Amino acid sequence: MKELVGLCKCCGKEIYCLDGFFNGVITEDKQSYCFDCYEEVKEEKNPQS
Ligand SMILES: [Zn+2]
Repeated sequence: MKELVGLCKCCGKEIYCLDGFFNGVITEDKQSYCFDCYEEVKEEKNPQS
């Protein structure tokens, strides 16, 4: 079971739901990102240290 959920807002990579496992992240404002881009976006929005 592989369901296309959306495209990464940042790099355009396809994000799928695979057997209930989502290979990306959807933010509170309904933007979808792959894990790689989300790590960067997350740090930009919430800089730590
Ligand atoms: Zn991406």
